[in-house]
Amino acid sequence: MTDVAEDAAFAGEPLVVVEGLRKVYRTGPKEVVALRDVSFAAYPGQLIAIRGRSGSGKTTLLNQIGGLDRPDAGRVLVDGRVVTDLPEAGLLELRRDVIGFIFQSFGLIPVLSAAENVGVPMRLTRTPVAEREQRIRMLLAMVGLEKHVNQRPYELSGGQQQRVAVARALANRPRLLIADEPTGQLDSGTGRQIMELIRAVVRSEGVTALVATHDPNLISLADTVLELHDGTLTTTSATPAPAPA
Ligand code: ADP
Ligand code: MG
Repeated sequence: MTDVAEDAAFAGEPLVVVEGLRKVYRTGPKEVVALRDVSFAAYPGQLIAIRGRSGSGKTTLLNQIGGLDRPDAGRVLVDGRVVTDLPEAGLLELRRDVIGFIFQSFGLIPVLSAAENVGVPMRLTRTPVAEREQRIRMLLAMVGLEKHVNQRPYELSGGQQQRVAVARALANRPRLLIADEPTGQLDSGTGRQIMELIRAVVRSEGVTALVATHDPNLISLADTVLELHDGTLTTTSATPAPAPA
């Protein structure tokens, strides 16, 4: 965890800008305000933990940023694109080229080997075979799985499966990593290793990472901690969004 002064290390152009985000879920006559006027910015090389109790709005926030859902008010910019205005085709491109997603349940394809899973995003971008094979090997070595390239998910431990998922998320050299409780199904030691891996990637590749977690062990590895409370950002260690031009 850092204070505001250390956040100044991330000055410059933000990769992610969130402005006045509001999301309301309506189920019949009932309304749940999942996000209330949420604003912050995230910079290249910054690892942000988003903390909050279950139901505080973490997943809703990440889904608006990743273009998986649309807010009722407010804007999200990622890499200069106004995510909240993009048509479906633009969102597909954004999710394919700019963002890598990591999920609590790993989300690997069961019939594919570790190497094939990592290769899926590169097939979508039609990366030439030789380059794809080389990057798969490099990524699986980076996450410590060079001896497991041909194993299927069920032949791997939970921690190993999440390492494959991290490698897959990095396949197309994303500028933004979005991870929703990536250690939620892992024991705390394994969870910490995954978070350390994410931090190493943030450092070496200069990507921005947004990680939702309520695991207190992981919070300490973040550069910045945002706290959500019933849909409201209550932290004081957030990097403030730049004033509108
Ligand atoms: P978290 O990820 O922090 O657990 P969520 O973003 O999943 O929180 O949920 C925030 C609030 O929005 C909760 O009150 C939840 O019940 C509600 N919510 C989330 N998704 C939906 C949905 N699809 N329909 C209705 N309410 C939802
Ligand atoms: Mg959630």
